Amino acid sequence: MMEFVLNVAMELLRKYPLCDRCLGRFFAQLGRGLDNAERGRAIKVCLAMELHRKLLEKSVSPRDLVEIAKRCEPLKEVLKVFGVQVPEVEPCYVCGSKIEEMIEKGVDMVLEELRRLGIKRFLVGVVPPRDIDEREREVVKAFGLGYWESVRSELKREIGKRIKERYGYVTDFEDPEATVIVDFNEWRTWVEIPSLLVLGTYWKLGRRISQVPWVEKDGSRRYPLAIEDALQEAAKIARGERSVFHGAGREDVDVRMLGSGRPFVLEVCKPLNRNVDLQTIEEAINKFSPWLAFELEMKVKREVVSNVKASRGYKIYRALVATRDPVKKEDLQKLEEFFSNRVVEQWTPRRVLGRKRDMLRRRKVISIKTLQINGFLFESLIKAEGGLYIKELVSGDEGRTRPSFTEVLGTEAACVELDVLYVQKQI
Ligand SMILES: [Zn+2]
Repeated sequence: MMEFVLNVAMELLRKYPLCDRCLGRFFAQLGRGLDNAERGRAIKVCLAMELHRKLLEKSVSPRDLVEIAKRCEPLKEVLKVFGVQVPEVEPCYVCGSKIEEMIEKGVDMVLEELRRLGIKRFLVGVVPPRDIDEREREVVKAFGLGYWESVRSELKREIGKRIKERYGYVTDFEDPEATVIVDFNEWRTWVEIPSLLVLGTYWKLGRRISQVPWVEKDGSRRYPLAIEDALQEAAKIARGERSVFHGAGREDVDVRMLGSGRPFVLEVCKPLNRNVDLQTIEEAINKFSPWLAFELEMKVKREVVSNVKASRGYKIYRALVATRDPVKKEDLQKLEEFFSNRVVEQWTPRRVLGRKRDMLRRRKVISIKTLQINGFLFESLIKAEGGLYIKELVSGDEGRTRPSFTEVLGTEAACVELDVLYVQKQI
């Protein structure tokens, strides 16, 4: 292996002047606990020692080594002993001998951002200088090198390491408070702050409350309160830009969410303080409105958001149903028997046709229970697969939902109040 490293290094230096760091980077995966400048320096020292031996054994003459010594400081020192003066070392072909300066500039730029943001745990991202990146690839290709590392990865690591060692910041690959990206072409930085994501459950104790604000064309609100409004309290505490609500499905604006509550994910965008105590956030969002309640469970990763949104468990509803003609106890018993594991076919309800395309969906009603209040009014508990439109299951939506309560009871039925009592968790 030693032969391989020295031979390739010798060939590289014959073709290109290379600084210690760029030479070392072409062998970056060999040797441990070294930085590339040490690695490159070590290779040049070994090369000089090997050539020194050959000079002493007279198998090579000092004159033959002048060119290579222009690219190898330690060899220049050796040649002095043999009375040969070597001109100045040439600038590095890959980085123009600018890489150390670039790393230091990068350190200053990232440090400035970290101080401005007031955070501790960080990562560095790099857009590498285009010309250096190109020349590096050219050399790698020309020599078929297999143990190299890119200048991008070296800049990232070196800047991170120096900031950590000198200023006590912490590099965190799992959960950084921010990634500071340095663009070495434009000499500018920008910051990426990952969202804070918290899995929780919400309850909607009142009606006319939407999940996210429903804004009319003129900018006014259709409903006075949205769940997302309460979540903005979390953004204040975590010093984020804003909060976003992600729900496991939704209920209509006029439907309450009681019982088990419904799972959701709170996303705080660009939080400057992600070490927030979930209990503090929970208290703040619960204080926001007496019509909303929340429980926060734990911080989660991004993929949980799509899992929560895609969950399709069964639900249990409570519907208050009014009928045009009076119904008897026996009619309700017949209704219970009929809607036992009954598949219902629904064309998109007329009330949402403007927003959703017309399509047929099939969902199962697992079971229903009824409680008569008077001849024209009864309460019904409905256990059904997620995604079934309950108001239309009751009314029949002028024949667009079949079968329906209207059809089975033989008189027009309407859902006058609806609550969700249970949402099966599938997370
Ligand atoms: Zn260089």
